[in-house]
Amino acid sequence: LLPTLIIVGRPNVGKSALFNRLIRRREALVYNTPDDHVTRDIRQGLAKLGDLRFTVLDSAGLETEATSGSILHRTATLTANVLSKTQFALFLIDVRAGVHPLDLEVGKWLRKHAPGIKPIVAMNKCESLCDGSDAIAEAISEARTLGFGDPIAISAETGLGMTVLYETLRPLL
Ligand code: GDP
Ligand code: MG
Repeated sequence: LLPTLIIVGRPNVGKSALFNRLIRRREALVYNTPDDHVTRDIRQGLAKLGDLRFTVLDSAGLETEATSGSILHRTATLTANVLSKTQFALFLIDVRAGVHPLDLEVGKWLRKHAPGIKPIVAMNKCESLCDGSDAIAEAISEARTLGFGDPIAISAETGLGMTVLYETLRPLL
C-alpha cells in the first residue's frame, strides 16, 4: 500500500498543475465521495518523483469550500473519506500573492480536520522570483507565519524545486 499525499490550498495556487506534473501521463481516477450531499471530485493518481512512489490526491473539493467562504463547514465527509486515508499533506500557496486570507482558512481547516498531519508548505510559482533575492527571503518568512515550519520553493509549471520536494518527502514516505 502506497503512502498518500494530499495537495491542499485555496483556488488557483497551482494544485492541479503540481498534481499533473507528479502523475505525468498516468490517468487520474476521479473519486466522488459517496455520501456527500455536495458531491466533490477528488482526483487520485500514482505519483512518481525520482524513485519515490506515492498516491497523490488533488483536493478540488477544498476549493469549493474556500470559494464559498465556508471552508470550515460541511467538510465532514471529505474529512472522513479522504483525510483518514491520507498521511501527508502539501499545502500550496502562491508566492506572488504572499499569505492570502484564504491560506489562513486552509491552515485552520487542516488544524481542525487533520491535527495529526503536519503539512509541508510549498510556495508555488517561484520561477517568477530571482533566486537568492530579498523577495524569496521575505516570502519564506511570511510563509512561516502559517505556523507549519519552513516552506519549500517550487514551480509546478517549470519543475523548479522538485529536487527539494523529493528530499523533503523521501525521509517521510
Ligand atoms: P488550482 O486551482 O490550485 O488547481 O490551480 P491550477 O493548477 O489550476 O493553476 C492555476 C493557475 O496558475 C493556472 O493558470 C496555472 O497555469 C497557473 N500556475 C500553476 N502553477 C504555476 C507555476 O508554477 N508558475 C506559474 N507562473 N503559474 C502557475
Ligand atoms: Mg485545480
